[in-house]
Amino acid sequence: MKVFSVIGARPQFVKAAVVSKALMEKTGTSEFLVHTGQHFDDNMSQVFFEEMGIPKPSANLGISGGGHGAMTGQMLLKIEELLVDESPDCVLVYGDTNSTLAGALAASKLNVPCAHVEAGLRSENRAMPEEINRILTDHACDLLFAPTEEAVKRLNREGIADEKVVRTGDVMLDAALLFGEKSRSKSTILDRLSLREKGFALCTLHRAENVDSRDVLNWLIEGLGQVAENLPVVLPVHPRTLARMKEFELMDQLASEIKIVDPVGYLDILRLESSASLIMTDSGGMQKEAFFQKVPCVTLRSETEWIELLPGGHNRLVRPMIESISEKAEEALSSNPDWSVDLYGDGNSSETIAQAIIDHW
Ligand code: UDP
Repeated sequence: MKVFSVIGARPQFVKAAVVSKALMEKTGTSEFLVHTGQHFDDNMSQVFFEEMGIPKPSANLGISGGGHGAMTGQMLLKIEELLVDESPDCVLVYGDTNSTLAGALAASKLNVPCAHVEAGLRSENRAMPEEINRILTDHACDLLFAPTEEAVKRLNREGIADEKVVRTGDVMLDAALLFGEKSRSKSTILDRLSLREKGFALCTLHRAENVDSRDVLNWLIEGLGQVAENLPVVLPVHPRTLARMKEFELMDQLASEIKIVDPVGYLDILRLESSASLIMTDSGGMQKEAFFQKVPCVTLRSETEWIELLPGGHNRLVRPMIESISEKAEEALSSNPDWSVDLYGDGNSSETIAQAIIDHW
């Protein structure tokens, strides 16, 4: 069986690392891996291929930047050409980016069966480009791998047939478990940044609604500065966020206790996550990784797709421009959630996905 996988952005490299591995362990399965080029900097792309042993892409489309429509359209065109040439048995897409939507649309227009890893996630905020990508992808695909019970329910509520939906658990847990030991033995990031175990907060920011508005970004930087008065903050800064901070002339507003670094690779981020006493983020993946590492999280957004982390106090939202980041950080630091709850499966989600693809097609 030939699987045609489409990836292009950082979180997709993490997910594909474990799913590709599970697929390759099945006899008679081959993969045609397409990198759309959406993320292209070495530290946003190449480092994940090297550290996580992701196979070299069969094709790199080199498509990045520009408007959402232009980017998605160019990807659609190129993926369609490749699908016609390669005649795969199915297409596999991940998450919620423009690469995800382009892969799902190209497949469905050619009647090639398509599967979606991380199906059924919703923020209920249609202004988010990712939300539209998720909804359209789920409704274009034939097999939906839902990580959580909530995601399964959501797909049912949207009228998607039960037989299309498989509850798999979360592949990011597989990745965190698979690379945890290697991160502990290989990563030197704590020494490089002079950090103490449990002596800092880790922060990432990249969502359009946070970084594309000068007011919101300024508010975030001020709030992080307040947290940093008591707890140093490490901020591996996403290229988009850095560009906006420069454009809005906000670099000088950064408190000196906020340590800005380039984006780090997967082994280093796992080490930072497990050693932090607090994670503050607008990343979808890092909210779950905080839970995997038993570190309380503050999500710098008004809503989250990963709602199962809220009731037990593993995570809390801080509404930008309305609530106080430092108050929520204090609340998180003094919380004592039950880390033993099973929300994301047992770390074998990628195996479940590989087997379901083989059984289905
Ligand atoms: N990540 C990383 N290096 C960093 C920041 C994040 O390896 O400097 C990882 C993070 O641990 C997670 C993934 O990138 O596995 C999440 O990607 P991102 O936050 O870009 O996307 P989202 O999850 O919000 O879709």
